[in-house]
Amino acid sequence: MKIIPNIRLLIDAAREIGVPVIYVNDSHLPNVDGEFKKWGSHAVRGSHGAMVIDELKPSSSDFIVEKRRYSGFYGTDLYVLLRELNVDTLILTGIHTHICVMHTAADAFYHGYKLIVPSDCVAAFNVDDHNIGLRFMHELYGAEIVNSKDILKRWGAA
Ligand code: ZN
Repeated sequence: MKIIPNIRLLIDAAREIGVPVIYVNDSHLPNVDGEFKKWGSHAVRGSHGAMVIDELKPSSSDFIVEKRRYSGFYGTDLYVLLRELNVDTLILTGIHTHICVMHTAADAFYHGYKLIVPSDCVAAFNVDDHNIGLRFMHELYGAEIVNSKDILKRWGAA
């Protein structure tokens, strides 16, 4: 699944109509984070792996939240930021559908956010993992699973 161009279109449209764009990035402490035992070293804070890829570069009006766990909420200020932005709905994109996206969805659900997941803007290691993630987010957290074009249409951008 090539998600980057789809995410790019969504981000551009969001900026255009003033929907906040928040990057929630893995940013791990070397030799400390427990996740490394499971997945090996990745996205070490300050390294290239913890940076946003060039195709999706943040603009000055976007927000960046660094995380050390699967969920974007755990140990970060994401919840405070969302409250201050008066947000009630989250559109989740990125990787991996059944890991960071789904665990962020779980915490979002606990906090009472409505969830929209464009299935062409999330991806996993394989189709099975991807589909399991989508299914659980829909069944457990009430996420609306859509195509990114549906969101663009709602925003009058497609
Ligand atoms: Zn990680």
